[in-house]
Amino acid sequence: MRYDCVVVGAGPAGSTAARYLARGGMSVLMLEKRPDIGSPVRCGEGISRDWLGELGITPSDRWVDNEVKGARIFGPSGNNYISVSASMAGNEVGYVIERDKFDKYLASMAADAGADIMVKTPAVDAIVDAGGVVGVKARVGGRLEDIRCDFVLACDGFESEFARWAGMKDFLLPPSDMVSALQYRLRGISCDRDYVDFHFGSIAPGGYIWVFPKSEGEANVGIGVNLSRAGKGMAKELLDSFIKRNPALSRGKPIQVVSGGVSVSKVRKRLHMPGLLVVGDAARLIDPLTGGGISNACISGKMAAESILLSRDRQEAGQIYEDRVRERFEVPHMRGWFMKEKLMEVSDELIEAVVDALHSVDLGTFSPQELINAVASTRPSLMEEIRRFA
Ligand code: FAD
Repeated sequence: MRYDCVVVGAGPAGSTAARYLARGGMSVLMLEKRPDIGSPVRCGEGISRDWLGELGITPSDRWVDNEVKGARIFGPSGNNYISVSASMAGNEVGYVIERDKFDKYLASMAADAGADIMVKTPAVDAIVDAGGVVGVKARVGGRLEDIRCDFVLACDGFESEFARWAGMKDFLLPPSDMVSALQYRLRGISCDRDYVDFHFGSIAPGGYIWVFPKSEGEANVGIGVNLSRAGKGMAKELLDSFIKRNPALSRGKPIQVVSGGVSVSKVRKRLHMPGLLVVGDAARLIDPLTGGGISNACISGKMAAESILLSRDRQEAGQIYEDRVRERFEVPHMRGWFMKEKLMEVSDELIEAVVDALHSVDLGTFSPQELINAVASTRPSLMEEIRRFA
């Protein structure tokens, strides 16, 4: 078998890359190890709206469950919150989707553009020669097959192995750059469907608890805890206790449980070698502050395809891709990473005070100094802690 490009993984990154490559006239094969694209779901299913047009994605009833106006950010007490409009609230706020249907929709667009797709077909190794990556070894049906190509796109997600098989070294993530997530889809609850809710503080060490409303009476209620702050079983204990304390949620019955890991790290050190581009979660493009990665996965998939269409040179295309990704994501990613690091250290009292203070500033224009002043004026006792983090 021979193709111009082989895409490993049919998540948002892979399907988007495959679509744009096929549309550009390349022969493309997308391999997916699971039998059913998008399933089982491992996602809170929140996405923002602003990037969809750039990717040619039209929101559809086929995969949108609920459209929200914005987010509510709660302090640890649960009594105090601020509302933020969807456009300011980060990459998980806009629509609550049916993720399995969304992934299938993206894969359908790749198929319609002309990409070949094989499900239940895992890549098991990279084929490498002196000139770089020249193909993929895959388990096709019961047997191993070599699929030769000019470019492989490693879109194989958070647990990505393909780049390592190809010989690209990357440092193992420290526990502080990983979040363990657990979520219930609860039926029979009541919540405000206009807002997604985020709860911060020691109720979710180094992360947060979320309530993402889906169709009437249903919501994804989940928790992410930083691995450096959480012991075994802690995520479940904290989430169960949050739900129990919250009368609007405690009546709910779980109809799905989702768990998984999320990287909250800086962008991966190297994103390419001759013949190989690393894309989406595999490139560590999840926003380290919010844990949202769908939009970045799709955008980087498009960037990878466009880079290959610009230069068929196996080294140059990778370099174009890496430069573009770094230009777009590196600075905001670094900012998010630092904020995540700081958030892990702050006390519940300070988080509560910040939420309080945010009521008195203009969220569209406030400066960090304005926020510090507002906190200091109501809670002078927190000045020492503020100085440490400012
Ligand atoms: P993936 O979606 O992981 O796709 C990788 C694909 O590659 C998978 O289908 C996998 O089966 C396949 N694959 C892996 N290895 C192989 C192989 N060897 N051969 C063939 N196929 C292979 N992001 C948001 O924006 N909003 C959210 O609300 C949100 N909530 C989340 C909640 C949880 C619990 C978790 C774990 C993540 C969440 N994320 C969220 C992150 C988001 O899911 C990812 O950022 C996004 O899926 C990245 O897309 P991707 O295509 O890079 O990787």
